Amino acid sequence: ASTAMAEAAAASRPPPDVDTDDCLREYRHLFSPDILAGQVAFITGGGSGIGFRIAEIFMRHGCRTVIASRNLQRVSEASKKLVAATGQQCLPLSVDVRQPQTIVAAVDEALKEFKRIDILVNNAAGNFLCPASALSFNAFKTVIDIDTIGTFNTSKVLFEKYFRDHGGVIVNITATLSYRGQALQVHAGAAKAAIDAMTRHLAVEWGPNNIRVNSLAPGPITGTEGYQRLGGKFAEDASQFAMIPLHRAGNKTEIAHSTLYLASPLSSYVTGTTLVVDGGSWLTSANNFPALLDFWAAGANKNQ
Ligand code: NAP
Repeated sequence: ASTAMAEAAAASRPPPDVDTDDCLREYRHLFSPDILAGQVAFITGGGSGIGFRIAEIFMRHGCRTVIASRNLQRVSEASKKLVAATGQQCLPLSVDVRQPQTIVAAVDEALKEFKRIDILVNNAAGNFLCPASALSFNAFKTVIDIDTIGTFNTSKVLFEKYFRDHGGVIVNITATLSYRGQALQVHAGAAKAAIDAMTRHLAVEWGPNNIRVNSLAPGPITGTEGYQRLGGKFAEDASQFAMIPLHRAGNKTEIAHSTLYLASPLSSYVTGTTLVVDGGSWLTSANNFPALLDFWAAGANKNQ
């Protein structure tokens, strides 16, 4: 029995991560190191946080990457680190996912460079805590524009430019916010729920083109902008992580590993679904409107 316990512990032990936007100091492959050999991934928001780590883990598995976001300097610096750590190619490009013509230009440039794109990770997003009563019309719209419409824009451009004729795989990074109506998150919850719906619609329509479309919904992930802004430290200090079935936040490497699964042939028959990667968090964590409102009033609103 004690051996079985030890094995169970190993199966939920987190892999190493670093909290900054830097590459891992050590890495031990769990999947075959060449599982993405020869492939190319286009990752929006790949210059920071979860997107950066997804790019790194993909590159450590033989993939070349395109990392695209608004700030060209951010993705250029990220690309240098990624290439130095992995020896794979990484092309940094500027896009605003709200503007289809910038995506068209970036995808054209990526295809010119690599001649193929096999994987799209829609990871770019914007979020902040705000009660609906204090949320401006424009703030709500901006989150829908970046998250939901940005995901549609990027998916459609990739479909037309490459996936329709060659197949492909799309992973949309969403969230569990809408499952229980998370307080102070009506904008992001609604935006991500719409993306989960889009995942199913596009899986149905594009399946015949050999395109798989899935969502990955992370829980609280350390070393991210989201964790800082959305009260991760607050939850940690209030020992709210004791409420999570696995008693901890997740890390970026764990999200990257699950994204790797969804992007790889290991999930060849998986489409139209959402993989929740949250240690069971949404099932048991607090959704306390008055407490979050106090936290917001005490200063989270000043960081916006
Ligand atoms: P992050 O570091 O803030 O990453 C967001 C990225 O999106 C940035 O690199 C940003 O780069 C890019 N971006 C923002 N607006 C854009 C636009 N209009 N066009 C193109 N790129 C844009 O966030 P993160 O915490 O790692 O989150 C990554 C994903 O995981 C998001 O989809 C988020 O909703 C999801 N998620 C995170 C957590 C968490 O705990 N962190 C939990 C659940 C879900 P530029 O500023 O250069 O454009």
